[in-house]
Amino acid sequence: LLAEVNGHSLGTDAQSREPLRGDLQNFLGGETLLHQLDDLTKVNPVTLETVLRCLQARYMTDTFYTNAGCALVALNPFKPVPQLYSPELMREYHAAPQPQKLKPHIFTVGEQTYRNVKSLIEPVNQSIVVSGESGAGKTWTSRCLMKFYAVVASSSTSWESHQVAERIEQRILNSNPVMEAFGNACTLRNNNSSRFGKFIQLQLNGPRAQQMTGAAVQTYLLEKTRVACQTSSERNFHIFYQICKGASADERLQWHLPEGAAFSWLPNPEWTLEEDCFEVTREAMLHLGIDTPTQNNIFKVLAGLLHLGNMQFADSEDEAQPCQLMDCAKWSVKTLASLLQLPRDTLLETLRIRTIKAGRQQQVFRKPCSRAECDTRRDCLAKLVYARLFDWLVSVINSSICADPNAWTTFIGLLDVYGFESFPNNSLEQLCINYANEKLQQHFVAHFLRAQQEEYAVEGLEWSFVNYQDNQSCLDLIEGSPISICSLLNEECRLNRPSSAAQLQTRIESVLAGRPCLGQNKLSREPSFIVVHYAGPVCYHTAGLVEKNKDPVPPELTRLLQQSQDPLLKVLFPTNPKENSQEESSGQSRAPVLTVVSKFKASLEQLLQVLQSTTPHYIRCIKPNSHGQAQTFIREEVLSQLEACGLVETIHISAAGFPIRVSHQNFVDRYELLRRLRLRASSGLHSPSHAKGHSKGPPPAKEATLQSLLQDILHTLPILTRAAATL
Ligand code: ATP
Ligand code: MG
Repeated sequence: LLAEVNGHSLGTDAQSREPLRGDLQNFLGGETLLHQLDDLTKVNPVTLETVLRCLQARYMTDTFYTNAGCALVALNPFKPVPQLYSPELMREYHAAPQPQKLKPHIFTVGEQTYRNVKSLIEPVNQSIVVSGESGAGKTWTSRCLMKFYAVVASSSTSWESHQVAERIEQRILNSNPVMEAFGNACTLRNNNSSRFGKFIQLQLNGPRAQQMTGAAVQTYLLEKTRVACQTSSERNFHIFYQICKGASADERLQWHLPEGAAFSWLPNPEWTLEEDCFEVTREAMLHLGIDTPTQNNIFKVLAGLLHLGNMQFADSEDEAQPCQLMDCAKWSVKTLASLLQLPRDTLLETLRIRTIKAGRQQQVFRKPCSRAECDTRRDCLAKLVYARLFDWLVSVINSSICADPNAWTTFIGLLDVYGFESFPNNSLEQLCINYANEKLQQHFVAHFLRAQQEEYAVEGLEWSFVNYQDNQSCLDLIEGSPISICSLLNEECRLNRPSSAAQLQTRIESVLAGRPCLGQNKLSREPSFIVVHYAGPVCYHTAGLVEKNKDPVPPELTRLLQQSQDPLLKVLFPTNPKENSQEESSGQSRAPVLTVVSKFKASLEQLLQVLQSTTPHYIRCIKPNSHGQAQTFIREEVLSQLEACGLVETIHISAAGFPIRVSHQNFVDRYELLRRLRLRASSGLHSPSHAKGHSKGPPPAKEATLQSLLQDILHTLPILTRAAATL
């Protein structure tokens, strides 16, 4: 019965089952019908082409959400659709007896997780993994879901606690503009691109009360290089533009930001983007407990970084002499020293002279840096300050929104991470991002596909096994032990030996030879290697990989910042040597190096542990075109995204499996009457008196049976109707 109601026949796979609503010809011949399919499992046969056509048909009728079995596909409308995200609609999904009967929406997922987490029988922590490429709508989706929880959680709050709850919900929502101001930037692919990964746990206090009592944020891999280096058509983090556009005349004076001043780390300031809203950021910071003096301190330090970017060095004619400052940079160094409250001479010396410890006595030698080295040190200083500031902000936000451990029992986690990336030139950043996506894909495979198949096997259900793509061999290549790409990169960092890009390529090729997911790009002129990811092959260039992995910070830079008299920098760079062990260790000392990939691997493992303890839900965001245009669906672009997230495979598994699970007890409660009905019917029909059939009028036994049968039917009807509605 269950299988038939859902259009699946037991024991067959998706390919061979009968289509639910007509055959392929009907679907493809009648495009008008296609947009009505709200679950891609109903498309038959499930192929990239049919899935693509269905999504296109829906997109063109302004239907942006479609179920894909156990996942939800979200197409970016690239236009405001306020009615789709109104509080009224949120409440409608919240109040619906069966939200899954309503049109597919992120609120269905939101409501499902909310119900699961507050289930009285067995509350389980929930997580929603929002994935997709840059500009697909991950951050938008996560933001909307946070608003959804804020609305539904406050509607279930008692009057007394309403005000407190509103405050905490508002604070949690306020973390978004702050984190986006400091962590997002305008890129070629998205005007508001998140340059970090984010996992937020919304904390709820127990099954009955259903209140949101707090939240905890964890961030991953901030793209800190952006503070000092932006490609020509991109911009720095939003906050720099917000300060320059939004500061008052008085603040401009204090922060040395005269109207029209040019900063080399502030490219494309003329673009007016809606993100340039200083007031919103400030207001949100205030709500999070960052008072105005602290805010001003932050903005002053950031203004200092803009001046740091204007420090240009000239080649020195004499190698024994430090590089000269370009004339135009003289004002900058003075201003920078005053804004960051650093001794000007020490600042200049640190940027231009390297200290080296050598010999048994660890004698200190001073060596003037080349112009390129001075530039690297300058950029490094900016990255160091910005990354510490960002981490500090996250910890301040957490202390403002995180609930007391006793005040919450369950959580809903929202993960907004970069999707799979493949550019003409891929480096360590892409390796980390794609590694994270491999891990998440494995989690998805493990949870939905493998677990489902194994469970069927344990239950003895007849089912033809679908060949799911297991990406373990790719993960072994990237992170496995004892030898993998990560371990080789780390080894190069540890040995601290000069090795060229070509040497690294040769080493990877020879040590990891024969690994199934490793390839060579014979056409590439640059030293490189290929990793065949689940979403496709990616060519990584080896130039600069080891250096990026080391992410070295000269210890002199940290020591310089420790000398600052600025209150914020004092917090960011305490003099306690323990606090700075990482920077020191990546400098000249022999302590073990904690590399970028090691840190990333550790944080990813932690994240996966948390995810594994939850019931996961997946939202796959898709960008219909790369120009951000409404009503434009570019098939080739969507196709590659469908491939990258393995959607067709997901649909096959969902369609072929048994999507509805009812506990044995529930099943018996619901359908026991059917069995009784059948028993009675057969006992009535085959009763001995009926068989003889020679007495006058209906035999009493038969009459009684029929009456009782009728009663049973009347009694059963509403139950059956309810059961059918549930299904
Ligand atoms: P990145 O990986 O670069 O951070 P992203 O996947 O987080 O990208 P978003 O910033 O969420 O992408 O979305 C990009 C833009 O698309 C948004 O700024 C917004 O203009 C638009 N957009 C996304 N989703 C919607 C939606 N549901 N309704 C209207 N506009 C949307
Ligand atoms: Mg984003």
